[in-house]
Amino acid sequence: MAEDKSDIEIARGASLKPIQEIGEALGIPPASLLPYGHDKAKISASFLGSLQDREDGKLILVTAINPTPAGEGKTTTTVGLGDGLRRIGENALICVREPSLGPCFGMKGGAAGGGYAQVVPMEEINLHFTGDFHAITTAHNLLAAMIDNHIYWGNALDIDPRRVTWRRVMDMNDRALRGVVTSLGGVSNGFPRETGFDITVASEIMAILCLASDPADLEKRLGDIVIGYRYDKSAVYARDLNADGAMAVVLKEAIQPNLVQTIENTPAFVHGGPFANIAHGCNSVIATKAALKLADYVVTEAGFGADLGAEKFFNIKCRKAGLRPAASVIVATVRALKMNGGVAKEALGAEDISAVQKGCSNLGRHIENVRQFGVPVIVAINHFHTDTDAEIDVVKAYTASLGEEAIVCRHWAHGSAGIEELAHKVVAVANSGKADFTPLYRDEISLFDKIETVVKRIYHGAEVAADARVRDQLAEWEKAGYGHLPVCMAKTQYSFSTNPALRGAPSGHIVPVREVRLSAGAGFVVAICGEVMTMPGLPRHPAAERIRLDAEGRIEGLF
Ligand code: ADP
Ligand code: MG
Repeated sequence: MAEDKSDIEIARGASLKPIQEIGEALGIPPASLLPYGHDKAKISASFLGSLQDREDGKLILVTAINPTPAGEGKTTTTVGLGDGLRRIGENALICVREPSLGPCFGMKGGAAGGGYAQVVPMEEINLHFTGDFHAITTAHNLLAAMIDNHIYWGNALDIDPRRVTWRRVMDMNDRALRGVVTSLGGVSNGFPRETGFDITVASEIMAILCLASDPADLEKRLGDIVIGYRYDKSAVYARDLNADGAMAVVLKEAIQPNLVQTIENTPAFVHGGPFANIAHGCNSVIATKAALKLADYVVTEAGFGADLGAEKFFNIKCRKAGLRPAASVIVATVRALKMNGGVAKEALGAEDISAVQKGCSNLGRHIENVRQFGVPVIVAINHFHTDTDAEIDVVKAYTASLGEEAIVCRHWAHGSAGIEELAHKVVAVANSGKADFTPLYRDEISLFDKIETVVKRIYHGAEVAADARVRDQLAEWEKAGYGHLPVCMAKTQYSFSTNPALRGAPSGHIVPVREVRLSAGAGFVVAICGEVMTMPGLPRHPAAERIRLDAEGRIEGLF
């Protein structure tokens, strides 16, 4: 049972196969596997290019209801389901995001699954891994350095230093860097200007890496980045600074997917990790597409609840990459349903049947929403040891009343043996021919109409509130040729509204769009509804205070 062992103890007890063996089972020749130590490898870009003509496997999205702050187990269920599919004899591959290093030192806990459903080596995946985030940080800051350098050497492009929108990034929670003044100290240091740092996962380069289809497309998108504006307010592109080639070189290895395994030796691609608010929150298109060529079933995850994660997975990633998901698993926990039914975080462990009943409206809303995309739904109840049979029966009966099935999954405690029923159901649904994916809106409608479509049909809000500044900006981008882009909604993950305390299935609310941002390289327009944090801080007592190496050089206190 997982209850008496920490995630890291379970991960260390796993018996890993050499990564070459994992790659071989997928049909990846040794020469195309680029090992990083014994347990991690990248897949060469040339091998990926050679897969084009193969048939695609079935894509399964794992999403969730609106969560508790601890997370509802999407990653854990994605990993567990991959193991479960292998256990019942299917050729399955897992695709998840790479975790960010910085947050590991703030709150305790990693992002590589949990209990007996983890990808390993989990310490390395959560920390430096194969260096992708360092490469993204470097590419991002290379562009920043080239901007200030260009201004220093005479500013031939006429960049308005007050309108440089490209900030700097670092993979660390550091609130002190949210706003800074650069180039202080005299003439030889350039022209002082106000700017700031975001965490690396918020970098547009992260989103670009995750949406690029190949190295050539990556370089094109890097060139498309808008870094700021001239005095005449026209846009300046990274291409204008001739920065795109060098950035692509810095990202040469990072763009190749990383292969690891689960503690049950199921192969997993862990690649890319964009923010789920100002970006789209899914692993790379390159990894997902390669996985579909190499396996019959690919299980993947989208960040946050289905109102944000699944919506962006469908409307941004699937639309742009031409992916057609065969089924969607909505993870629900009795705990989160209780919270959606009005119970406080501290009281989630106690049985409360009426709160579960009340909170089911949240699950119902997500089921209804995912169906709108033409993707069949299965509900996975991620079992916690505090759940009672009576509470679980409520969820099952409610889901059945909507014509769907809810299946109890115990992969966290029992690994693949605890998730066989879900695996069988996923195979049946994915092969039923029921899926008929369509994005929610067409490319041709206006940017504002796209925002309104999501607000009305997914959030069930009454209207979008946006002042003239926001509307004018959207109209300007349409004139500049960006009207066909999808929108990337940034809102709280705790509610269908912009008020995190408004749980359940609210409707008729007003959704204010405070600000819009253009991610021209990534290929979306971000609509910011409420507060969005792009550089987190550390808590009063960060986990870092308790992290150390033991006498054998092993990490203590991290997970
Ligand atoms: P998400 O991907 O939805 O954010 P994770 O899969 O990362 O969620 O899980 C969040 C945390 O909850 C992890 O620390 C994980 O170990 C823990 N967890 C997940 N499922 C269970 C479970 N069934 N019982 C106990 N803890 C769980
Ligand atoms: Mg996750």
